[in-house]
Amino acid sequence: MTRNRRPLVAIYPGSFDPLTNGHLDLISRGGSLVDHLIVAILQNTEKQPLFTIDERIGMIREAVAGLNNVEVDTFEGLLVDYAARRGANAILRGIRAVSDYETELQMALLNRRMRPETETIFLMAREEYSFISSRMIKEIITLGGDAGSFVPANVANRLRAKFPALG
Ligand code: ADP
Repeated sequence: MTRNRRPLVAIYPGSFDPLTNGHLDLISRGGSLVDHLIVAILQNTEKQPLFTIDERIGMIREAVAGLNNVEVDTFEGLLVDYAARRGANAILRGIRAVSDYETELQMALLNRRMRPETETIFLMAREEYSFISSRMIKEIITLGGDAGSFVPANVANRLRAKFPALG
């Protein structure tokens, strides 16, 4: 049986401060499953981000340059409202460990209640990336360490340029 379906447009929301190898893996695996993937940087009010929104847009664009159905955008306000504006019918999220599951489940159920036509799709993190988080990278940087092996090469270069002490 064939069934005509709408193109699958998914949003991958996050703060991406900074983009990690785990995020990039999710973008490339997610991008190959859907027709169009929008990586959407949340413009929240975090007091001390490592990178500005513009820097994050630039870094993600560089890292996904080879993926032609992936775009990078920013949003503020409710994710489901942004999904409605962009005509997106899916939200992509990653699960690293049981600790992610609880908050992800809660968000997915809330989002479904607010906008049932948007499904949340979960991909499990790859084992080798499952311990990587932006928060941990920020901590390593703050403590003077080198987080270069946890992020894409272009992000590592920007980190070294911004924090020259890391060599
Ligand atoms: P982080 O959780 O690293 O601070 P975000 O808040 O930007 O990053 O996360 C956005 C999404 O990416 C979330 O669904 C999160 O579970 C997922 N994610 C984060 N790190 C990884 C990883 N290492 N592997 C797979 N998915 C991840």
